[in-house]
Amino acid sequence: MTLETLERVQTMIDVHCHLNFHAFRRDYDEVIKRAFEAGVTKIINVGTKIDSSEKAVELAKERENLYTIVGIHPHHADKVTIPSHHGGKPRVTRRPIGSHGDSIASLQNDNADWVEKLEELAKDPKVVAIGECGMDYYRYKSNEIVDPILQRRIFIKQIELAYKLKLPLQIHNRQAGKDIIDILINHKSYLINPPGMFHCMSGDITFLKKVLDLGFYVGFDGNITYKGIAKGETTDLKDLVRYAPLDRIVVETDSPFLTPEPHRGERNVPEYVIIVGKYIADLKGIPFDKVDEETTKNANYLFRLSF
Ligand SMILES: [Zn+2]
Ligand SMILES: [Zn+2]
Repeated sequence: MTLETLERVQTMIDVHCHLNFHAFRRDYDEVIKRAFEAGVTKIINVGTKIDSSEKAVELAKERENLYTIVGIHPHHADKVTIPSHHGGKPRVTRRPIGSHGDSIASLQNDNADWVEKLEELAKDPKVVAIGECGMDYYRYKSNEIVDPILQRRIFIKQIELAYKLKLPLQIHNRQAGKDIIDILINHKSYLINPPGMFHCMSGDITFLKKVLDLGFYVGFDGNITYKGIAKGETTDLKDLVRYAPLDRIVVETDSPFLTPEPHRGERNVPEYVIIVGKYIADLKGIPFDKVDEETTKNANYLFRLSF
């Protein structure tokens, strides 16, 4: 047997990054090229609102092995409008009285029929899922918690859209796992098979079990290399990695965020998905080749990336 037949070619797929963000405005082509040279075979670029979703679609159009997910992140749930249920003019969503940062600005900036716009974008053949959508109850320095009622409505609209287009969901969850599971159970008939994935998995083992029971895949990022337990969490991400079965894991970077060790502090890039994959292999005590092979198979299957 020659060396060539022994060596498997690496095939890692980054299922969640944001090359459409400002941090990459100058060099995304270079970053994509470097990732492919490093052994990454496919990259999925994710939108978080209408304009970044548009940008992601535009980037994927011209480039091979670059795919797109379009959606509204819960942080932006208060910046879109919901078409009126009574027909006629779309209605601007408002935060409850007493909350700040409301209305006039959003009225001017909003895309009144965001669902239709998202649907239009999602019909592009390079769009492989709806997301990142979901719920987020974490109090960030830069982002107040968006009214949970709004978050919920925007999330449900996207579950319905994913069902209509027969696309999987890519779900963002931070400290909102219970509510997300409740919503998904209430909308079980709207979930396709497989229904999608939870990106940047966090939470405890009980939550992970529920996610797996509903048929979802789970994505891990560079933060699994960080020491200790993140603020507000109860379970070490390393334990979630050990518990999650390999046939349900996909690997991601969330670039430019969540840079893995030993590069923490720098801008994250899709080629570091290989570092995350190797770290998963170490945590599970299995060869990296196995992680590479299985997680690539999972991503190709979940997002139907074989074209
Ligand atoms: Zn996210
Ligand atoms: Zn993200």
